Amino acid sequence: MTERTFSIIKPDATKRNLTGAINAVIEGAGLRIVAQRRIRMTEDQAKKFYEVHAARPFYGELVETMTSAPVVVQVLEGDNAMAKYREVMGATNPEQAAEGTIRKLFALNVGENSVHGSDSLENAKIEIAQFFTDADIVG
Ligand code: ATP
Ligand code: MG
Repeated sequence: MTERTFSIIKPDATKRNLTGAINAVIEGAGLRIVAQRRIRMTEDQAKKFYEVHAARPFYGELVETMTSAPVVVQVLEGDNAMAKYREVMGATNPEQAAEGTIRKLFALNVGENSVHGSDSLENAKIEIAQFFTDADIVG
């Protein structure tokens, strides 16, 4: 089934000019980038986005990292897009990520792991709406 999922190319990756290389992996996996914008996330945006992790010990560090440099927010579309992108990203900790995944190829460590992808279709909808309107998305 054709789905949409939300992606972020994180500061560690934009700082190293990896936007194009990551997009090549995304497109190579058959996912279409149907919306994309480079932004500097505000502290409020990052706090809200990662609200589910507010009680975790790394929350402060996470918010700090996400606001430390520009990010690229994206909407990806394709067959089974949410699960497919999770697979293409690889494990949260790059040491555990499979060969060929974005995190295996590019991530520095668990905190600087280059990309975010929604973990459910419900969250994908919520996350897309935080950064894009319907008019921004051209499928
Ligand atoms: P994301 O939500 O960014 O796509 P994920 O779903 O693989 O990644 P989550 O468990 O949702 O992983 O954690 C959100 C983010 O918090 C991770 O991507 C990572 O950057 C950061 N994070 C997770 N665990 C740790 C940790 N132990 N130390 C530092 N940062 C962490
Ligand atoms: Mg997550």
